[in-house]
Amino acid sequence: MNQKDLLILDLDECLIHAAEKELDTTCDFVMDQFFVYKRPHLDEFLEQMQSAYAIAVWSSGTELYVMELLAHIAPNIKFEFVFDRNRCTRRFDPERKDHFFLKDLKKVKESGFDLDRVLILEDEPRKVSRHFGNLVYVRPFYGERSDEELPPLARYLLSIKDESNLRSIDKRLWRKGV
Ligand SMILES: [Mg+2]
Repeated sequence: MNQKDLLILDLDECLIHAAEKELDTTCDFVMDQFFVYKRPHLDEFLEQMQSAYAIAVWSSGTELYVMELLAHIAPNIKFEFVFDRNRCTRRFDPERKDHFFLKDLKKVKESGFDLDRVLILEDEPRKVSRHFGNLVYVRPFYGERSDEELPPLARYLLSIKDESNLRSIDKRLWRKGV
């Protein structure tokens, strides 16, 4: 079993925003047809999380998209795993009448991780609706240069990393504690 707790990162609207048209501000880089904006403080955030947690990525983007994006934003980070759309389960949402990609953490458990010691960052809670206990909800990022979500999120994640059961902590009001 792994020593550090596992933190699973989402990409789109969590760590970056990939826009089809350039916004009012200059993007950080262009990738294929996308203008990509890194969430402010992303580099520091990844550095801090890497020292405190074992980190992994689970995106509902395609494999190529995810690999290209990581080559830009985290070229030197060693992830425990990188899951893409292929590991998601396509589901129909009867309320919103659309399809979405579910991230079923059963697949993480099957990879040998104890789900009591796993957190997943997600801006779209329905994607982890089977495992709300592992969710840390992150406000969606759409490229705003004034965004300040990551520094308090880092403080929060560092503050709970030694808890024995991460699932038993109520994480819904995490902003109030940091
Ligand atoms: Mg997302």
